Amino acid sequence: MTYDILIVGAGPVGSTYARYMAEKGYKVGIIEKKSRIGVPLQCAGLLGRQIKEVNILPSELIINPFYGAYLHSPSDRILKVAKNNPEAYVVDRVGYDQFLAELAVDAGAELFLKHQVKDINLKNGMVYIKNGKEDFRGRIIVGADGYNSVVALKISNNEHNHSLQAAQFKVDFDKNLFDMDYVHLYADASISPGFIWLIPLSSSEARVGLFGNSDYHSLNKYLKDFLNNNPAFDNYSLMKKYQGRIPIFNPKKNIVKDNVILLGDAASQVKPTTGGGLIMGFKCAQIAANITGKALENDDNTILKQYQSQYRKKFKTELNTQLRVQKIFKSLTDEDLDLMFIKLKEEGAEDIISEYGEMDDQAPLVKELFKRGIIFKILPKILARGISALWK
Ligand SMILES: Cc1cc2nc3c(=O)[nH]c(=O)nc-3n(C[C@H](O)[C@H](O)[C@H](O)COP(=O)(O)OP(=O)(O)OC[C@H]3O[C@@H](n4cnc5c(N)ncnc54)[C@H](O)[C@@H]3O)c2cc1C
Repeated sequence: MTYDILIVGAGPVGSTYARYMAEKGYKVGIIEKKSRIGVPLQCAGLLGRQIKEVNILPSELIINPFYGAYLHSPSDRILKVAKNNPEAYVVDRVGYDQFLAELAVDAGAELFLKHQVKDINLKNGMVYIKNGKEDFRGRIIVGADGYNSVVALKISNNEHNHSLQAAQFKVDFDKNLFDMDYVHLYADASISPGFIWLIPLSSSEARVGLFGNSDYHSLNKYLKDFLNNNPAFDNYSLMKKYQGRIPIFNPKKNIVKDNVILLGDAASQVKPTTGGGLIMGFKCAQIAANITGKALENDDNTILKQYQSQYRKKFKTELNTQLRVQKIFKSLTDEDLDLMFIKLKEEGAEDIISEYGEMDDQAPLVKELFKRGIIFKILPKILARGISALWK
């Protein structure tokens, strides 16, 4: 079977891109190895407010909106940041993946479940399926097959994507513990640049998780110690455990070759500081749809290179800022982090973060802290210079 666009992976980003292309009238096929889309859950499901601009999010899939966050230092000094309107939403991520796939199918895309891609041919566009199932051909092939992408492997001469392990628990705290308007983020040098997130699903239940450069077993133990050592969590029970991997953003990654492009986690399109991939993936799906549409219209695959250049240009400042911030956090000790929280509070940073902070675009806040001289007060000189160099 031949398609204009053949997408490997019906994750949220692949399905969104499929919808855009089907709406343009192209013949779109999506090949997905799972029998049930989105299962098992491998996500905290926290989406910044930009989700409403970059994709459709039905209100019945929103579990809870958040207006701000409590940021906890290692010795539990707290910064509270708040907005007047919802800054983020925790969503039913399994339901959301299924909803986005249904929209793609409604728009005309053909979805093939239980089809695992084993290989692709860059020259003739063939996509080969495991277990003797019929093969496919695409004029353009889109690898949206996640961090462990077979398509990425193929176009990068067998160089695997680098990724970090993530672990998450669904926890019942057995009492009304949470203000539902706020998420909690706990800084800790030993897991830096990661952090622990606690996202209330109700006043007594939360998703608690972290990612880091350790194995799943160690992260699990770390999370249990975190819960056991916090006196407020005296009678909790674990309802579910989840695990997954988060690709490490690679600014030099080649995401186009011949008639193939990569999208979403397969392209390492995730925010370096938080590991969040949905908003950025959806924005990239829009760029990819414009460029692949042009390439099909002109029957010229050399146009696909513009996808890589436009993507890099659009996210350059933001991602470079996040990479620097991430590098700095990696070098800080628990004492440094505590001191930083104290100084931030003294400098009135809660108000500044409340005004300029945003989950998905962090560069404006860092720039504001730099402009007000706060960066130089909270960080050792050498690290502060690294950040300020971004705006020289
Ligand atoms: C614990 C955890 C928490 C997270 N929390 C957040 C969060 O709060 N907010 C946020 O924005 N992001 C979060 N992320 C990241 C987010 O989940 C990813 O960025 C997002 O899922 C990427 O979407 P995608 O469509 O690119 O890839 P995926 O969601 O990985 O989808 C890829 C699809 O391809 C399929 N596939 C893979 N290989 C093949 C093959 N060979 N053949 C056919 N099909 C194949 C898979 O089955 C899957 O359906 C988190 C990740 C983890 C692990």
